[in-house]
Amino acid sequence: MSTMTIAPHAPARGVTQAPHPCCVWCGGPAQPVGSRLAVCAACGAASTYPPPDEQELLAAYARWYRPAGGRFAGCGDGLLRRSRATLAGRLDRLAPPGPVLDVGCGDGALLDALHARGRAACGLERTATRPDVRASELTAFEERAGEWAAIAFWHSLEHLRQPAAALDRACMLLAPRGLLVVAMPNWASWQARTLGERWLALDLPRHLVHLPASALIGGLRERGLEIGRVSYWRGGQVVFGWLHGLVGRLPGHPDLYDAIRQPDARQAQLGSGARLATLGAGVALAPAAFALAAAEVAARTSGTVYVEAWRP
Ligand SMILES: [Zn+2]
Repeated sequence: MSTMTIAPHAPARGVTQAPHPCCVWCGGPAQPVGSRLAVCAACGAASTYPPPDEQELLAAYARWYRPAGGRFAGCGDGLLRRSRATLAGRLDRLAPPGPVLDVGCGDGALLDALHARGRAACGLERTATRPDVRASELTAFEERAGEWAAIAFWHSLEHLRQPAAALDRACMLLAPRGLLVVAMPNWASWQARTLGERWLALDLPRHLVHLPASALIGGLRERGLEIGRVSYWRGGQVVFGWLHGLVGRLPGHPDLYDAIRQPDARQAQLGSGARLATLGAGVALAPAAFALAAAEVAARTSGTVYVEAWRP
């Protein structure tokens, strides 16, 4: 992966240089590339390097990241809730009887959809905002080993400081024939390689590990799980990854992700004229993004991978 379009390593100013970059996925030695990554020759994963300290992470998860009033303009939040309802339906159909654990549950949309189906469900987050959410790391979550019918890492594994240890813990917690579901950005995708450090799903410094789909699937197999469905068809995310990257290549590097968010949910202030121009560029470039996404999905190397794995 060191061939991707990222310049040689130059430590970010004001960031303390960690002494020896180690792959946070397999523990092997990693080689610094770009401004904030170290790539592992053994497994192909990239680690965010130097890793952010707690202060930097707190700032990165500031109020704008997920404000109470919602994140996206128009019907965006509604579409997100519908996609969680679809996932809840699939988990409820496939998993054996028992509770579901949602690691990195965000605002609890998946929990709500599971409860609506009569499934017991509990979430883990950085802060507990409701009774069915615990402020706990999965590695410190001691409850009911072997009794969880399903565990979901829905775009959360990449946020964890110890993703490999979290997966170990998830395997212990799963019931026999329990279902593990992981959705995350695919570091081996064409969009990751093409867009380099401007790839939306790199999301530094919040994403701490960047896995090629093969490393994720290999890690699940190494832990004795049986791989079920592997899908690269996450329509909206794959198209938007390309669209955001194409718009970001225009002069001034407009940020389409900020432009589709509600004012309180933007990382930077955005005037209405600039916002309209950014949205207009998004509309103009949409056909190209659709074409690139379709090719990527067809080649099974798209920007997002979804894996279902079973405990024997
Ligand atoms: Zn590695």
